[in-house]
Order: sequence, then structure tokens, then C-alpha cells
Amino acid sequence: MFDCYDKSHVKYERCYRLILVLMSFSYQVKYSSKRKTVAIKIENSCVKVYAPNYISPKQIEEFVDLKSGWIMDKLSFQSNTLVKSILEQRQIAVLGQVYELCFCDGATSTLSESNNLIIVTTNRKVKCKRTVALKQLTAYLKLTLTEHLEKRLELLSEQIGVTYESIKVRQYKRRWGSCDKQGRLTFNVQLALAPTEIIDYVLVHELCHRVYLNHSREFWQLVEAYSPLYRDSEKWLKENGLSLDILKL
Ligand SMILES: [Zn+2]
Repeated sequence: MFDCYDKSHVKYERCYRLILVLMSFSYQVKYSSKRKTVAIKIENSCVKVYAPNYISPKQIEEFVDLKSGWIMDKLSFQSNTLVKSILEQRQIAVLGQVYELCFCDGATSTLSESNNLIIVTTNRKVKCKRTVALKQLTAYLKLTLTEHLEKRLELLSEQIGVTYESIKVRQYKRRWGSCDKQGRLTFNVQLALAPTEIIDYVLVHELCHRVYLNHSREFWQLVEAYSPLYRDSEKWLKENGLSLDILKL
């Protein structure tokens, strides 16, 4: 399977589509006296309906029914990206640039990148090739992201007028970045797979913690001054966060 990714991938896609035809979904309803309209949100593959108090369950059901095509599309997109490990992807976007991914066996384990192509070669004598390939890809993403962050942080910290102590890139499950009292910044390696404007927002967010070590109104005002579309970025991270969780076996 490891050697002929394309064939296994096609099989997988066909199988997946069949499941989709039979797919059903459940949803949660949140009522609010302040709401005036009904809204549907898909968060981490859960369907949530936000409705005003006066709407009946039957009306909600009709609304959800009307939107079922859109819901299915969103759910299939999210689960499609959610279930796939990076080892099952044929393409990945690194710092917003799309690369074809190719896995093969060789005399040694190496990773090369050129002309929008990333070739992960795994030593044919290695027993668990997937583990080795994943390690190689993770190391590549760490290095690429670190280089990018160093450049961007230098510029952004100067604009905001703050300093920082150090930069580290690590694997986190639920955190994009952090900044401690000493100004030590850490970032999630999976940021490498996000668009560059989203990465910039995370950097601005952490750098603004050099001024406010909290999420106060003043903090968000400062974030907005340097990342005016920060609400969109927050939304993007919320909606796509889990789909970036692909650094798994
Ligand atoms: Zn924060």
C-alpha cells in the first residue's frame, strides 16, 4: 500500500462516496431570546442550529431539511480532511503553496522538495515505514515553518514595538501558539499547513500578549490594529483547526 499510493487512494475515494450517499446527520439546537433569525453552523463535524425562542421544532426541522445539501457538503469536506492522515494525502499546502506528495522506497530515508513536489523516500529496510515517513514530513514542516516564523516575527514585532525571547515550533493538539511572561513564543507545527495570512494572525496574537498577558478588550483592540481581519482568522482556525490535524499515522 505504501508504494502505490494512487491506487489505494482511488479505492478509498470510491468507498467514501458510497458511505456519503447513506450518510445522515444529527444536530443540536441552541435557543436564544436575543436571536431574530435561524443559523446553522458546522463546527468540528457537529451541526449546530441557533434559533430564536419562538421557533418551533417543526420549523427548525424544515429549515434544516432545506439546507441539508449545504450541510452534507460541509460535513463531507470536513470529514474527508479529518479522517486523512498526511500519509494519505496526494497534495498538501505548505505556507499556502501547493505541493504534490510522493512516497517511495530507497536505500536511505530522505526528503526532497523541488518544483512543487515533495518526495519522501523511506529506507526499504525499515519495518514501520509510515512512522519514518511521518517523522520526516513533520521535521520538514518544523524547519520550513521555523524559517518562515523567524522572518515574519522580526517584521511584525518591530511593527508592534515589542520584543521576544525565543521561538519554538512543537506539536500540539489544541493550541496554535503561546507566549509566556519571559517572551518565549511557541507555535504549533501544523500552522505550516495554514494560509500565510492565518499564520500572521497567530503571530500578531502572541506578540500582543507581550503587551497584555490576557484576552482583555485592550488586548483585542491591539490585535485588531495589526490584524484588522482577526475575526475571520479566528473563525477560520475554529472551522479548519481539526482538518489540519493530519500529522498522524
Ligand atoms: Zn491568546
